[in-house]
Amino acid sequence: MGDTSLRLVWVYPDLLSTYGDQGNALVVERRAQQRGLEVQRIDIRSDQPVPTSGDIYLIGGGEDRPQRLAAERLRRDGGLNRAVDNGAIVFSVCAGYQIIGHEFINDLGKREPGLGLLDVTSGRGEAERCVGDVLADIDDRLGLPQLTGFENHQGVTHVGPNARPFARVRLGKGNGTGDGTEGAWQDTVFGTYMHGPVLARNPLIADLLIKLALDVNALPPVDDRWYEALRGERIAAAVQPA
Ligand code: GLN
Repeated sequence: MGDTSLRLVWVYPDLLSTYGDQGNALVVERRAQQRGLEVQRIDIRSDQPVPTSGDIYLIGGGEDRPQRLAAERLRRDGGLNRAVDNGAIVFSVCAGYQIIGHEFINDLGKREPGLGLLDVTSGRGEAERCVGDVLADIDDRLGLPQLTGFENHQGVTHVGPNARPFARVRLGKGNGTGDGTEGAWQDTVFGTYMHGPVLARNPLIADLLIKLALDVNALPPVDDRWYEALRGERIAAAVQPA
């Protein structure tokens, strides 16, 4: 890509956008613009082809039926897989996270194939849903501060050998497998169960995505006071629920 523009693709807002996950697109867009980048944001509805030339693809969470429809359409379309083959970055949340793995259990109780972009496999937790605030330590290799988010899912996700857990939970369930892992990542593909929207609570993750897209190690600093205030508030509320 050129060094002054960023193509940001928000995948299937009509099917996958629970709990304000669209905020993730707003945060990436804003933080890129604050660095002087020209951002082309492309919202792709589920009846449109997924462009293959994006730099960053964001996918949100969704209820079980829209999740199945989204998986069917993304498989048929093939654009997201081609984009990743071209080196694109993917950041996916909850249902989106399950969809980009090998498989998940759909709303009909059947195994539904995913896109195989991330070495994870999701099943259905037998116990109650994983709901609540989460605090977690992000994989050291990513150099990011504590993860804060909100989870609400029935699915449980096992991380395979080609991916690494995105974080380890201090509070909450994360992948729900009981091993303390939360989310997964592999090269330029990331998945997390965190809503919030997660990039509003953790703007340095948005910066990481931008750095990967630009292939740079650092970005000019921006005023993070509002983000810090929000982070502090959510972390305090998680530690000491009202
Ligand atoms: N339907 C999925 C589950 O319950 C994902 C839910 C979500 O995206 N919030 O596991």
